[in-house]
Amino acid sequence: MPLLKRKRDYARLVIIISGVLPLIIGIFFTALDARHTVRQQQVNAAKTLLSQAERMSDSAWNMITELRQFQHQPCSQIENQLQRIGALNPYFRAIGKMEENRIACSSAYGTKPAFLSDMIMRDAPVTGKAWWSLSIAGTSGVPDRPAVIFMRDLPDGEGFWAVVDGQYLIDFMRAISSTHLYHFSMEFNDGAPISFGDPQIALSGWFEPLIYQASSSRYPLSVTLIASPSELILAWRQVMLIIMPMAIIFSILLMMLMANWLQRHISWRDEIRRAIASGQFRAHYQPVYDNRLQRCSGAEALLRWTTPDGNGIRPDIFIGAAEAEGMIVPLTRHLLDLIAEDVQAWQVEPGFHLAINVAADHLQHPDFVDDMLHFADRVKDKQFLITLELTERSLIKDGVEVARKLEQLRGCGMKVAIDDFGTGHCSLSYLQTFTMDYLKIDRGFINAIESLEGRTPVLDAIIQLSHELELEVLGEGVESALQFSYLQRRGVVFIQGYYYARPMDNAALIAWLARQGEQPVKADHAPETHQTASI
Ligand code: C2E
Ligand code: CA
Ligand code: CA
Repeated sequence: MPLLKRKRDYARLVIIISGVLPLIIGIFFTALDARHTVRQQQVNAAKTLLSQAERMSDSAWNMITELRQFQHQPCSQIENQLQRIGALNPYFRAIGKMEENRIACSSAYGTKPAFLSDMIMRDAPVTGKAWWSLSIAGTSGVPDRPAVIFMRDLPDGEGFWAVVDGQYLIDFMRAISSTHLYHFSMEFNDGAPISFGDPQIALSGWFEPLIYQASSSRYPLSVTLIASPSELILAWRQVMLIIMPMAIIFSILLMMLMANWLQRHISWRDEIRRAIASGQFRAHYQPVYDNRLQRCSGAEALLRWTTPDGNGIRPDIFIGAAEAEGMIVPLTRHLLDLIAEDVQAWQVEPGFHLAINVAADHLQHPDFVDDMLHFADRVKDKQFLITLELTERSLIKDGVEVARKLEQLRGCGMKVAIDDFGTGHCSLSYLQTFTMDYLKIDRGFINAIESLEGRTPVLDAIIQLSHELELEVLGEGVESALQFSYLQRRGVVFIQGYYYARPMDNAALIAWLARQGEQPVKADHAPETHQTASI
């Protein structure tokens, strides 16, 4: 995968993550906050319920204290008063007196003696204490409704008790439930639970129910509160409505900041600069065949970029990027350095064409002429015919000034070629503005050749035009014997393409020139280059 594409993919991933992360964090924190809110609501509900139960216990113990006035008094004397007190005080289902560890009289059952265990429908607890309370599932009179019994044992088998109806607590639970979906369960001294709510709520939904347990510091009573998962969802939704818009804004801002930062840091500009510094560029050379001389008469330098992981980046990609990001001038200078080093080992005749692609930005650069003259000076002992190939990919704005520079360089013995002729929209105006020596016919027109005898109108017209303008013509991208013969027959002098030779590195070129540089091409036989060429 090309280097920058990989980096851009990585950048895209980083941008997506920076957009998604605040949302995920937002969701996570809103979930935490919702949990905290529900827990806080449970704490408050439990606290209210406990204090209500404590108040109830207070009044039960106060009642028992009040009943102690009847100590040592027989039931026959206190029966009426018991009934009156029991009826006038809220909460109480019954109050009564114990004698010889049995109920001697009560506000509900009069003076009929009874066993405590019969009334509370279970054994009395063995607490070893004189004061105790216990939640019970029911009493013999009201077996279906829970209650709480408070007992004060006195010496000589006497005692006073009060049974508080659990309904008060249940009503209280119901009141709290009107705003929150809870299941309540309250126990006095680990007795029967006094509960309210659907015990199934814990099972509904995807979330775990929130269970909260609290006990009173004053009495042995505890409450367990299970919040329905829907409570959690409700609280979550409420926090999300507040937090998520902010998280979305934050995520958009972060994405924009990140995109901006990455754009500045993951740029071709830096990559190219680094690649130049670390020697990732190489010059390759593609031989050009001369039909007149019947031998190789030159080569075009083509840049190659191989990243440290061994992947090559396509020239049309990095050249375009270098042009777009203002790196083409340093890159071409680097290429000139590479060429100047490579050619030292070349054994070529004087006048060997050395074609160099020149971008519009470089042509318009104030140092262009100096750069080229400096290069020419470095390779002067090879006596090359340096050819500057101009494409129309990026427009030359200052035509007059560029024409002047090209004239100056032509005056110093360089040649100018128009590359990819016919593919842009200013080929003809280039021909008018600049003095050209060569015209390179784009591969696209060569591809259109179908047979030797048939006509290829646009290609024929271009060849015709170049003859009339007295320009030397080069056909590029020649891949077959047919194309080769077609061009040869129509007087195209120079041929470049895989059919003759592929671009190759410096060492391969030197070997190729020594072996084949002088060889003529017989159009009906494929040349040996196919086995030796590299790209
Ligand atoms: P170009 O100047 O038109 O170069 C010719 C391209 O055609 C080269 O592609 C070459 O490898 C390819 N080619 C040659 N013969 C054949 C063939 O028979 N069939 C096919 N299909 N292709 C053939 P490459 O090297 O990938 O370069 C692409 C373009 O990148 C070049 O097109 C040129 O415009 C640009 N480029 C390459 N090196 C440089 C450079 O050093 N400076 C500048 N400014 N541009 C360069
Ligand atoms: Ca070229
Ligand atoms: Ca070309």
